[in-house]
Amino acid sequence: MDHFDLHDGALHAEQVPLDAIADAVGTPVYVYSAATIRRHVRVFREALAGLEHDGQAPLVAFAVKANPNAAVLSVLAGLGCGADVVSGGELMRARAAGIPGEKIVFSGVGKTADEMALALREGIGQFNLESEEEARTLSKVAADLGLTARVAFRVNPDVDAGTHAKISTGRSENKFGIAYDLAPDAYARAAALPGLVVQGVAVHIGSQLTDLGPLETAFGRIGALIATLRAAGHDIRTADLGGGLGVPYDPTKPAPPAPSAYGEMVRRATAGWNVRLMFEPGRLIVGNAGVLLTSVIRVKPGAQAPFVIVDAAMNDLMRPALYDAWHDIRAVRPSGERFVANVVGPVCETGDTFAMQRSMDRVDEGERVVFMTAGAYAATMASTYNSRALTPEVLVSGDRWAVVRKRQKIEALIAADSVPAWALNEPTED
Ligand code: PLP
Repeated sequence: MDHFDLHDGALHAEQVPLDAIADAVGTPVYVYSAATIRRHVRVFREALAGLEHDGQAPLVAFAVKANPNAAVLSVLAGLGCGADVVSGGELMRARAAGIPGEKIVFSGVGKTADEMALALREGIGQFNLESEEEARTLSKVAADLGLTARVAFRVNPDVDAGTHAKISTGRSENKFGIAYDLAPDAYARAAALPGLVVQGVAVHIGSQLTDLGPLETAFGRIGALIATLRAAGHDIRTADLGGGLGVPYDPTKPAPPAPSAYGEMVRRATAGWNVRLMFEPGRLIVGNAGVLLTSVIRVKPGAQAPFVIVDAAMNDLMRPALYDAWHDIRAVRPSGERFVANVVGPVCETGDTFAMQRSMDRVDEGERVVFMTAGAYAATMASTYNSRALTPEVLVSGDRWAVVRKRQKIEALIAADSVPAWALNEPTED
């Protein structure tokens, strides 16, 4: 559920008309709803009721990669969320937003020694290691600093999550985690390394999952591994079950499983584990909490359907080009008429296509439309391709709103480059 609704014929974010934001900030612009973020955290926590361990609720560590905006992270920090980070930059953002180190989990296959040192100094709660090589590097970094790293291995359960190939992470051919069968030996070797305390197991099989079956299979394998590791003498106290639960993008398709069904499955799968559970939801928390607000530059006739050319492009919202993702497209002031159109951006790539032959609100030049469900893996993936400035972001709460990332200036983009004098003066080759 989100808080983007029609009031008096115009689309609002909570109580703020999207037109008011577009008039003041221009388009394209991302607009986030704080009420939607808060609601999703509450619903997810309610779904995990009964999973407390030693009086502690499971850790909800927001996957920062989904939306690293400082204001969004601050809302989440205020709700007591932790963070799942995959780079030193994300770690710094989480800390700057006030998320305590203790509530931070560091995932990712390519953590550098410098990033490990930063995380150790920040006292993070857990490193999710993805290889034995990484365990050896972390051991050395921790020992050199005289600090201790609490670690889990991310285990690859070799389960097909049934999602898009580019966001599937739990099959043996994917780069993520250590192979399930090799895990007991990896734990034995890691436990013997100085500077490491082996405390848990982690798993994440993919994103935008619309079926709980593969998750339950993966969790079943993790439960068996916990028993094996304990039998071998490891003190396993945490299990990080990752993120991955899908959100509805296309209202005409069956909705993904509700968080309550996910919670029920987790209760079933983890019964008797006796660990502190951790979760890394990203999309579930912020996906439906954002829209990309854009204006129609012009409508150009096409062979099969007209092209609605909007001022947002693939550099602002990559998901359709990258994952063939479907975003609902709505007029800010729908007339009630509909038509079939292709919606494209101005970038010089055929891939800069948001929708083909889409039945949608009829819109014309100068009108505004939104791409729904653009709160996750959207602004954060933006680039400046075609020398297009990064899109601003706005956060709404009730009847208040604020720009939480300024529109980048093209001048700043150009000023970031430098031209050595010799590049101007050297003779040509021929
Ligand atoms: N945890 C890890 C390790 C991830 O790679 C991801 C994203 O793929 C997430 C959590 C968040 O996934 P989602 O946004 O689908 O909840």
